[in-house]
Amino acid sequence: MILIEHATIITVDRERRILADGSIVIDGREIVQVGPAREVRPSRRPARVIDGRRLLVAPGFVDTHVHLSEHLTRGLLLDDIPVDRYLPDWLIPLYSVMTSEEEQVSAQLACVEMIRTGTTTFCEAGTLFDVPAVAEAVEEVGMRAVLGRWTWDREGGPGRMRQSTDEALALNEKMLAEVNARPADLVRAWPLLLGFGTCSERLIQGAAALARRAGTGWGMMHLASHPSRKTADTMPVTRLDALGVLGPEAKLAHLVYVEDADVDLLARRGVKVSHCPTAGLKHTKGLAAHGRFVEMAERGVCVSLGGDSGNGSNHFDMLRIMYLVATIYKDARLDVGVMPPEQVLEMATIDGAAALGLEGRIGSIEPGKRADLVLYDLDTPEWRPLLNPLNNLVYAATGASVRTVLIDGRVVLDEGRLTTLDARALYERVERLSRAQIARARLPIESRWRIVTS
Ligand SMILES: [Zn+2]
Repeated sequence: MILIEHATIITVDRERRILADGSIVIDGREIVQVGPAREVRPSRRPARVIDGRRLLVAPGFVDTHVHLSEHLTRGLLLDDIPVDRYLPDWLIPLYSVMTSEEEQVSAQLACVEMIRTGTTTFCEAGTLFDVPAVAEAVEEVGMRAVLGRWTWDREGGPGRMRQSTDEALALNEKMLAEVNARPADLVRAWPLLLGFGTCSERLIQGAAALARRAGTGWGMMHLASHPSRKTADTMPVTRLDALGVLGPEAKLAHLVYVEDADVDLLARRGVKVSHCPTAGLKHTKGLAAHGRFVEMAERGVCVSLGGDSGNGSNHFDMLRIMYLVATIYKDARLDVGVMPPEQVLEMATIDGAAALGLEGRIGSIEPGKRADLVLYDLDTPEWRPLLNPLNNLVYAATGASVRTVLIDGRVVLDEGRLTTLDARALYERVERLSRAQIARARLPIESRWRIVTS
């Protein structure tokens, strides 16, 4: 049993309480009590008591769109590469030589970054090859996740990227059986389609049917994301609806270019939308001018947030993502009333949980939920003065103030130190494997400014 006492707590509970002097009791994996410190009484002596007087506790963030394997080549692609050349010229050559070991190491790097910036749960973008191996790596770090395998059936690619509709569905079925049978329930798999116009209608319907049979959600991870026709990812929402696949289990990512009627349709069907602002801005997708995320949220669509990729946004820092979402639409609409910080925090927590069908288990600090908690160090300039804790969290806090993180009741970051793996050894493997992978893919490592090595 763990007791966190006398902390400031942003609960995101039903009443959206912020406790100025609150305590939390954690028993095993679960939160069993939350409330004003004077009311909270552990039923037995806790094994650990954390003095929260200089800490703020918030629910762990949920990132609903991350590419794990691309983290190994973060920063490789220079800004002026056209967005429609990303896949054919860079990412496919890298994916075509990727090993299971590289996928595992890359996943762990991404996980460590997320933990250190307050994210405790994520959904992969559906671009993994060896999903069981990555599931093992993610479990080792101790994160909660939904994973998916590289799935498309339209355009060929070199060797392993090519798959027929039947092969793609069979591989997904096998993945669901393997990963979802794992005894620990931290990591699960869903059918997650790549999108970008690479999926046939039969594959989309097949993936939705697989998800229904397996009792999971499913996702189309890159849809209506860019104005360029060359990306061919513009299948209209109404077309998807005509296939009979849109419902609360469906998660669509990016979705910048939608019509007003689409927003209503998404709301009616209960479809979950993953908004990826950092990649959208870096890839000049016209987010601020064209995105309808303000309208989606207003009309009751569940909008969550995604960090995307090591060469898209180049980071998985939900604090930076929240800051952007809370500011870009205000500026674009010349309206300080849109995207209030309270709504943005909901997107990063409880709405992200709902997008993954986990709102009954995570996303807020309430009795009966799993203990996925982030403890921020208030003895840092960004948190002072602590007049409005929620404003500080969305607009001022950085990952540098993340002190301690619990996932499923387990302390995975303790006073700034990872408890589940040796971070320095991981970083050394990342440096070695990254260069080896880029060399095998025959890609250059370029810098506009000369890197002097001797
Ligand atoms: Zn993506």
